[in-house]
Amino acid sequence: MGKSYKIGVIKGDGIGPEIVDEAIKVLDAVSVKEGFTLRYEEMLLGGAAIDETGVPLPDETIQGVKKCDAVLFGAIGGPKWDNLERHLRPETGLLGLRKEMGTFANLRPAMVYDELVNASTLKPEVIRGVDIMVVRELTGGIYFGQPRAIEDDRAYNTMVYTREEVERIAVVAFDIAMKRNKRICSVDKANVLEVSQFWREIVEEVAKDYPEVELTHMYVDNAAMQLIRAPKQFDVILTGNIFGDILSDAASMLSGSIGLLPSASTGKGVGLYEPIHGSAPDIAGQGIANPLATISSASMMLRYAFGEEKAAERIDEAIKKALAEGYRTGDLGDYDAKEICSCSEIGDIIADYASK
Ligand code: NAD
Repeated sequence: MGKSYKIGVIKGDGIGPEIVDEAIKVLDAVSVKEGFTLRYEEMLLGGAAIDETGVPLPDETIQGVKKCDAVLFGAIGGPKWDNLERHLRPETGLLGLRKEMGTFANLRPAMVYDELVNASTLKPEVIRGVDIMVVRELTGGIYFGQPRAIEDDRAYNTMVYTREEVERIAVVAFDIAMKRNKRICSVDKANVLEVSQFWREIVEEVAKDYPEVELTHMYVDNAAMQLIRAPKQFDVILTGNIFGDILSDAASMLSGSIGLLPSASTGKGVGLYEPIHGSAPDIAGQGIANPLATISSASMMLRYAFGEEKAAERIDEAIKKALAEGYRTGDLGDYDAKEICSCSEIGDIIADYASK
């Protein structure tokens, strides 16, 4: 008998249910082809959870995700819940879930599909072939450091990294680099910050276990500039929480649309796989959302959570083929488009290609 995996499914709010349904359609197609079984368990989070249970992160969800092999997530939030108190808002539910799951590594690929080079604001020759993986530390650094306070005449936060925190995120980055082009650029601000000097030393130590990987270091201000000037120089970017927050958003815009890019948040336990965009309430329910970021997130889940590399490749290739054939959702514009598809139409096409 083939392998079987249990996937926690959190559709969420806005376009969440539409895009997650398409990802499941594609997952089902490749699982049949590659001979493994997928079981799904739906769970509530965000606005949908507030409506149903009164809280954004119900206990059943916290317990439920721990019993899964991975979690596929759409997006949460929307104007309906914007005026609630902070602890009851949908976003608080998502932050709480990430904390509960202990997902300390955020992986954000930024790749440019050849067929969509014209959809970017940068010149085609600068971005054609870009394929970057940003590995961002997610649960440490200045966003979490103590002490922190606002006082009458001053306010402060603290940037702290422990040896263990740097080591474990560096290991994630080196392991990923081994599966890619074996180059890591570690980004810090070691010319000014002690915490960055410490980060650099530990990354150097971890590098000794990966002699095949070429490690370079770059200051964050230069990295921001280089991402726009010559993004093809990067393979894996390894960085801390606040620098990664900013750089991964900048990198994501190389691709042209927010509807294209997936992400994975992983740690010691179950990983969370989700598109980088939000719940897009402005287009929810119209059937025009782009499901590619969520379908790509499902591909990352197969690759990183289950080790089902062939199935992941099937999805990646199916997406490329659909774009090459000129199938687009509306957000991608009509560059070289043969047909503007609805959310479920492009899902059907990709599921079909993925199962051939
Ligand atoms: P957003 O990413 O939802 O939307 C920004 C713009 O991009 C909108 O015009 C939207 O229509 C478009 N867009 C986004 N995804 C798209 C897709 N797949 N296909 C086509 N177009 C797409 O960001 P926002 O408008 O700032 O936030 C809307 C809500 O989402 C807010 O409640 C916010 O808090 C929430 N949010 C949730 C997450 C998450 O769940 N991870 C992340 C960011 C924002």
